[in-house]
Amino acid sequence: MKFIIKTLGCQSNLNYSKSFYYFIKPFSNINNIYFDILLINTCSVRELCHKRIFFLLKKNYKLKFLRIFNGCLINLFYLKLIKKSFVNIIINNAFTILKILIYNFYFYNCKQLYLKNIYKIENYKNINIIISEGCDKYCNYCIIPYTRGREIFYDLFSIFKNILLISVKFKEIYFFGQNVNSYKSFLKDKIIKFYLFIKIINEINKNNNYYYLTSNVKYAILYIKIYKNNKFLHLPLQSASNSILESMNRKYNFNFYKSFIYKVKKHLKDFLFSTDIIICFPGEIHDLYNKTLLSIEKLLFDKSYIFIYNVRSFTNSIFFFNNINLKLKKKRFIYLKKKFINNIFYINKLFINKYFYFILKNILLSYNHLFFSFLNNRKIIFFIKYKYLKINKFLKMKIKKIYLNRFFSFFI
Ligand code: SF4
Repeated sequence: MKFIIKTLGCQSNLNYSKSFYYFIKPFSNINNIYFDILLINTCSVRELCHKRIFFLLKKNYKLKFLRIFNGCLINLFYLKLIKKSFVNIIINNAFTILKILIYNFYFYNCKQLYLKNIYKIENYKNINIIISEGCDKYCNYCIIPYTRGREIFYDLFSIFKNILLISVKFKEIYFFGQNVNSYKSFLKDKIIKFYLFIKIINEINKNNNYYYLTSNVKYAILYIKIYKNNKFLHLPLQSASNSILESMNRKYNFNFYKSFIYKVKKHLKDFLFSTDIIICFPGEIHDLYNKTLLSIEKLLFDKSYIFIYNVRSFTNSIFFFNNINLKLKKKRFIYLKKKFINNIFYINKLFINKYFYFILKNILLSYNHLFFSFLNNRKIIFFIKYKYLKINKFLKMKIKKIYLNRFFSFFI
């Protein structure tokens, strides 16, 4: 039996695909199963993405696949998917009982099952830990709150347990969730918010690096001790114009972001930030776009994910009047991209002749003794060492040269 996993969308989906792989792998050794498995981890953020999924399903309709569906699109279209028999099994991240579902399909030809919200983190080999699901922020351009539902948080003790188990093997842990920094849990009668949670795990296991993406910096606090190990943070600014942020229903203003970044950089000079920017949102006149452009230079974002605003059905922003033409959208996109690339050039130069501590991640070519790893600010370092080095070993190196392409920099 073969299985194919198709992943669309965000890091959470990638993480679910990895979990699925571990659960499904034992099936691949069974020879007399008459079907292959196709799992699609769906995404609904962009209209184009959901069209692609339906196209894929229709194209493979006649092939003998057991079609399993996961991800946020199912909450929008599960009735359509089941009625038209595009899928056999719909799971909502319920990987732990996936085996039972597949047996049911195999022995009883039980074709359509729908399970909702049965979550468990069991994959100790994975360094990604999902701590929350769903979102309560309702940004006007985003479909996530309607597809993934209201925010829920995993239990504090099960997260601690997972961290302790995986930290034997891994030194870098990523927290995922739609809004990690709105995380809340209870310890007796005390409420534990995200930054207290990070503080506690930092105290329990000081040797690990913890990474996370935050969607709303409004709740971010400056706790330098946390950031000493992890010198990278993703802050999705979206726009530097307060009026655009307001019409997006983002609950912060640009100055808040700016002062947070300045404070962090004051204490930790080599700290880097990445961001998401949406350009050409309805009402973004040229002056407001220019504000974003200038702020990119001021705040020195190292990586950026720039999106041209697209109308997404089921969201509030479809009612907004948008008169920016395609030619202008493309022009703005290219110009902003250039600014970001200049930033990367500038930032990378600051690292030359500096020393860095890092954990060795991989051996690229053992014959040529070529190694590579990530620094704690997520830059990639390549080096040659004519000596056997163990993975996960702590190293100290001086950056000598930097090569840059569009996407990332190489340190040699
Ligand atoms: S914070 Fe806004 S953009 Fe992010 S998932 Fe929630 S609604 Fe969507």
